[in-house]
Amino acid sequence: MIVVFERDLRLVDHEALAAAAGCGPVFPVFILDAPLAASLGSAQKWWLHHSLSALNADLADQGGRLLLVSADDRADAIIDLAERTGLSHVAWTRRHGVRGRDDDARLSGKLEAAGLTASLHAGQLLHRPDGVRTGAGGFFKVYTPFWRAIIERIADAPPLPAPVSLRFAAAPDGESLESWALLPRTPDWAGGLAAEWTPGEAGAHERLSAFLDRALMGYGEDRNRPDLPSTSRLSPHIAFGEISPRQVVAAAMKRRTSRNGADLDVFLKEIVWREFAYHLLVNADDLANANFNRSFDAFPWAEDEARFKAWTRGLTGYPIVDAGMRELWTTGWMHNRVRMIVASFLCKHLLIDWRRGERWFWDTLVDADPASNAASWQWVAGSGADAAPYFRIFNPVLQGEKFDPEGTYVRRHVPELAGLPAQFIHKPWAAPSQIRQQAGLRLGANYPHPIIDHAEGRARALSAYQTLREAS
Ligand SMILES: Cc1cc2nc3c(=O)[nH]c(=O)nc-3n(C[C@H](O)[C@H](O)[C@H](O)COP(=O)(O)OP(=O)(O)OC[C@H]3O[C@@H](n4cnc5c(N)ncnc54)[C@H](O)[C@@H]3O)c2cc1C
Repeated sequence: MIVVFERDLRLVDHEALAAAAGCGPVFPVFILDAPLAASLGSAQKWWLHHSLSALNADLADQGGRLLLVSADDRADAIIDLAERTGLSHVAWTRRHGVRGRDDDARLSGKLEAAGLTASLHAGQLLHRPDGVRTGAGGFFKVYTPFWRAIIERIADAPPLPAPVSLRFAAAPDGESLESWALLPRTPDWAGGLAAEWTPGEAGAHERLSAFLDRALMGYGEDRNRPDLPSTSRLSPHIAFGEISPRQVVAAAMKRRTSRNGADLDVFLKEIVWREFAYHLLVNADDLANANFNRSFDAFPWAEDEARFKAWTRGLTGYPIVDAGMRELWTTGWMHNRVRMIVASFLCKHLLIDWRRGERWFWDTLVDADPASNAASWQWVAGSGADAAPYFRIFNPVLQGEKFDPEGTYVRRHVPELAGLPAQFIHKPWAAPSQIRQQAGLRLGANYPHPIIDHAEGRARALSAYQTLREAS
C-alpha cells in the first residue's frame, strides 16, 4: 500500500501507516506538489528539510526509505507511482488546512477514477473539526462551550499502540532532499533555528518528556512568563505531525497527580485552542484573509511601511516587542504571551492590518499553522471569533514588567539593553542619562526611541475603533 505523508511526519500513532502495515508491504512517499511548495514559509522549509531527513532515517532503521517526489499535481504523481509499483491502494492522513478538505475530496475522486483505492485516516487533530456542533446544529464561535463539548470526548481518542515492524515494497528511485533546496543558502540565516530545535519524531518526544518532567507543574501560572522555560515548545512538532495531539494528551493525562491537576487542565485547554482554531478554519469562509467579523471590513487600517519594517526587525523602541520579534527571527518561534503583545502592538498602536502580521508570522514561524495563526491574529485584532475586544489595548511597558519582571527575556534578545537595571529595562527612555551611559545605551543611536508614543497610539486606535462602531 502507498502511504502518502504530509503533515504527519511520524511512525507512531499513524493510522494510515498502521492500516497499510496490516495489509502487507508499505511504500512511504512524500509529495511536494505545487500548492504545497507555494504555501511553505521560509522557516517551515527549513523545518521540513530536517523533519523529512529524520523520518527517512527512522524508516531506514527498519529497512525502508521515504521516496521523495515533486510534482505539479499530487494525483498524477500518485497514479504514476501506482503504475510503476503495481500497488493499487493509497492511504493518507485526512487534511483540514486551507487546502485540506476539498483537496482530499478531489484527490480521492481522481485516484478512484484511475482505478485506485483511497483511504483517509484521522491523525492531525483530536477530533474532526467539522464533527462538533452546538445544540442548535451550528458551529461554535465561543471557546468555552467548544472546550466543554470536546473535553467530554478527550479520552475517546487514545493513541495507537506502537506499530509492529514494517515491511516495505520495493521503491523506484526518488529525488534527493538537497535537490529541493529547502534550506536557506545566501545568506544562511538558520543558525539560530539549528541551535534551538531538533526536528523529527525523536526530538518531539524529547520535548514532551522534558516538559512533563520539568514544567507541567506550575504551567498554569508560569506559561505567561517568556523569561522562564515554562511551556512545552511542542508547537512545530505538532504542526508537522511529528507527534500527534492525542499522544501529547495521553502522555500528559498519565502524569495527573493530586498536585498538578489544575496545571494539567490549563495545558489541555491550550491543546484544545488548536482544535478550536481548526473548527473555525473549516467553518469560516477564509480565515487567513477575510475578517471573521465582517464589520471589520470597514476598519481604517493605516499604510505605514516604515513602522511595519521597524516592527519586523525588532526596532520599535519597546523592549518586550523588540525581544519577541527578534526571538522570532532568530529561533523561528515566539512565546505565546509575547505573540499577543507584538500582534496587539501592530494592529492597535500601529493600526497595521492584521493580515500583514499574519503573513510575516507565516514566513518566519517554524510552527506556522493555517488555523492557529489566522485565528490568533484575528483574535488579537478583534475581528475574530470570541475575540479580545478591540478596545483592550496592551500597554507594552506594563506587559513587560508583569511577565518579564527582571528583564531576563529582553536581555536575552536585545543585547543593546542588557546593561540596564530591571527598573528601566522595559522603558529605557525613562532611565536617567547617567544610567543609560553606564549601560552603553545611546537612544536614537544604538537603540531606537519608541516609534509611537503609547498614549498617542492608544488614543488613535480607540478613535479608529469608534469609526467602526459608528459605521455599523
Ligand atoms: C498572533 C498569534 C499567532 C499564533 N500563530 C500560531 C501558529 O502559527 N501556530 C501555532 O501552533 N500556534 C500559534 N499561536 C498560538 C500559540 O502562541 C502557540 O501555539 C504557542 O506559543 C506554542 O508554544 P508551546 O508549544 O510552547 O505551547 P504550549 O503552551 O506548551 O501549548 C501546547 C500546545 O497547545 C497548542 N496551543 C497553545 N496555545 C495555543 C493557542 N493560543 N492557539 C492554538 N494552539 C495553541 C500548540 O499546539 C502548543 O504546542 C499564535 C498565537 C498568537 C497570539
